[in-house]
Amino acid sequence: MPIPYGRQEITDADIEAVVSVLRSDFLTQGPAVPNFESAITAYCGARHGVAANSATSALHMACFALGLGPGDYLWTSPITFVASSNCALYCGAKVDFVDIDPETFNLSPLRLREKLERAAKDGTLPKVVVAVHMCGQPCDMRAIHALGKEFGFSIIEDASHAVGGRYLDEPIGNCRYSDITVFSFHPVKIITTAEGGLATTQSTELDARMRLMRSHGITRDAELLEEPAHGPWYYEQQELGYNYRMTELQAALGLSQIDRLDDYVERRHALVKRYNTLLQDLPLDLPMQHPDGYSAFHLYIVRLKTADQKRQTRVHQALRAAGIMVNLHYIPVPMQPYYRQLGFNASNWPQALDYYRRAITLPLYPTMTDEQQDQVVRALAESLKQTEQ
Ligand SMILES: *Cc1c(COP(=O)(O)O)cnc(C)c1O
Repeated sequence: MPIPYGRQEITDADIEAVVSVLRSDFLTQGPAVPNFESAITAYCGARHGVAANSATSALHMACFALGLGPGDYLWTSPITFVASSNCALYCGAKVDFVDIDPETFNLSPLRLREKLERAAKDGTLPKVVVAVHMCGQPCDMRAIHALGKEFGFSIIEDASHAVGGRYLDEPIGNCRYSDITVFSFHPVKIITTAEGGLATTQSTELDARMRLMRSHGITRDAELLEEPAHGPWYYEQQELGYNYRMTELQAALGLSQIDRLDDYVERRHALVKRYNTLLQDLPLDLPMQHPDGYSAFHLYIVRLKTADQKRQTRVHQALRAAGIMVNLHYIPVPMQPYYRQLGFNASNWPQALDYYRRAITLPLYPTMTDEQQDQVVRALAESLKQTEQ
């Protein structure tokens, strides 16, 4: 049996929760979605939460709510999934990237300040910065938040990897240093709703804007109507929205999974501790943990000591041949053909490029056994030996 880089756990309780929705009156727009929203917001200490059919949709809703549009810029990290920047393009806005800190793999506040100072001079300051908590490790949110105040941008945390994690001893998602936080519940992430995402915020206005966008730009809320109701059937479309709703089945699965969220993150930490010990003598850079954060550890990424894409390819191939399904998170977004055609050249983000030529994502998921992990370590040691020179 191959060992995947990540996988979900589905229990009997999860299955029962989903089946009971199938037997109920509501497959969509019933009680499960608001219950799931309440459970996540209670968990992370946010005032509002808007569930969506994916984190990608939630990022789009967040950009819309923050008023991002043509002529505006959104900045994010080049080492992320393409959804973190595509959300700006959906709004007709422009994208740019801020190089990473090579230790944390997160957007570097130093590079951000330099870029902001240049942008202030030529009038290209961003309206929104998306801080991606890579692997679950929180970004330096205090620094990014201070820059947001100084240069006047809004902040979205892309916490797709980070539900269950903490920053400065508070749960990620409470938006203390951001306007909106987005979680993903894709099956490889920390907990799952099959497909699904959720945006938290402390702002009643942003919450209302995201809800409007999630459902066609339509509202029935008497307080928001622009003209008196024509009758009990009345609703108004006030914006051009989408159908980004989460189903009741997905929400029921998510609600059932939340019960195990803390256990999952704990198990991930135990496995990371074992990796750190078992790999310490291999010629690799192991992931550093910043003391300000408690990572949800979505991913465990090691790096070769030097950038050598040939060797990196051979190590990846050898491991896959041994049934260890290593992966690489991520190809720098500006290197993607779609982004190259927009004029991006990845050599402008040297730390991201160096990272890309060294990184290997090792398998990590809560149901992984110690024996499976030992198998990964043995195969990795062997592949490194094989590819020495
Ligand atoms: C998975 C992921 C997304 C997109 O999540 P979906 O729920 O699949 O849309 C966005 N950003 C990051 C960093 C991700 O890892």
